[in-house]
Amino acid sequence: MTAVRYYCPRCGAIAALDREGNLADKCVTPEPLDGWEYAAPYDDFESADGVEIVCGAAETDGEGCGEPYYLSFVKFEDGEEVDPADRAFVPPRVDGPTIDDPAEDDGPDDSDGPRFDFEP
Ligand SMILES: [Zn+2]
Repeated sequence: MTAVRYYCPRCGAIAALDREGNLADKCVTPEPLDGWEYAAPYDDFESADGVEIVCGAAETDGEGCGEPYYLSFVKFEDGEEVDPADRAFVPPRVDGPTIDDPAEDDGPDDSDGPRFDFEP
């Protein structure tokens, strides 16, 4: 088993999963991929298509935004890799955010920034 760390695509909190090294990650997305089946981190996710991680749950050291996100494994059907781009719904791909220095992650949260819900 290997501890692999993932970043929440919403808030960047780190989750660590113990998993077999022979599983290939496809992507991490804030929404589930169409056609993928997800297991909980404490279930036998090795046989699922991916893992539904709840940001802020036990595997994230209690930090995080509380929203679920989805680690998708590469999935094969009939010997060919399934590409979610071939499917009707394609969630946006999220790479990162990259955190080089955790000490710099204590800055102010800019979630109070400009909002676009005002009436003109
Ligand atoms: Zn989060």
